[in-house]
Amino acid sequence: MIKIDNLLIGISFVSVLVVSLYIGVWYTSDIYSENKNQVFRAIVHSNVTRLHKVPILLYHNIDGKGPYSISFEKLKKQFALLKNHDISVISLQQLEEHIDEHNPFKQKVVSITFDDGYYSMYSMLMPVARSMDYPVTLFVYIDAIAQGGTKTLTWKMLHIMQKNNIDIQCHSQSHEDLVKLYNKGTREGKYALYREIYLSKRILELYLDKKIDYFAFPYGRYSIQLTELCRDAGYKRVFSTDYGPNIVTRDNFCLRRHHVKSNYTDEKVLSLAW
Ligand SMILES: [Zn+2]
Repeated sequence: MIKIDNLLIGISFVSVLVVSLYIGVWYTSDIYSENKNQVFRAIVHSNVTRLHKVPILLYHNIDGKGPYSISFEKLKKQFALLKNHDISVISLQQLEEHIDEHNPFKQKVVSITFDDGYYSMYSMLMPVARSMDYPVTLFVYIDAIAQGGTKTLTWKMLHIMQKNNIDIQCHSQSHEDLVKLYNKGTREGKYALYREIYLSKRILELYLDKKIDYFAFPYGRYSIQLTELCRDAGYKRVFSTDYGPNIVTRDNFCLRRHHVKSNYTDEKVLSLAW
């Protein structure tokens, strides 16, 4: 009798074990067999080195006025600093490729971006970026260009910049705070979001005759809902102003950028890129 009881307990134990293992395997495989394009997995790498990381530097105007506008002399020094320390400047397209393939780099790299669309991008940035062969990206918002004026860029300038290896991408229609727009929850707010995220992309594509793949959030303000709208609009990556490098072995849709402030020393800038 005792032997039969033990046998039954043994059978029950083995059954529970088998069922648990089955559920475990099924559950694990389900995570990875889910629509792979939609699931952004964090792939665990125990040895993330500098070669897996890409810092993206963010600048605004180049007139040395205010905390976010660096002087031209400082900018040239910082650009030279990268070259002198064998840190390569790569385009956002190269960065995207490496993230898609989870490929570390063979040397230290950074990406460089400028926001808004100031005239100094044309008069100062373009010549220096061209002379150093740096593929920088400019995030412009439509209203700044459409309004015209002596301090902003024109469509013609953007065309010339494109031909000189400056990549133009989208920074919304009017540079409104998109989180505030989303939180309004009104029909007008929704239409405005459509204009800021979807329509601005199409307008740039039409005027620049190229595909626009990247969107930078105005003021760096974003949410999960906004990143999903951007994904739906067809952007391949979106950009915040959260500090920290981007790790190429992680499938991040939203990439970080570090704002270089005008009072940063050379050492500080080098520490961001090092
Ligand atoms: Zn901006």
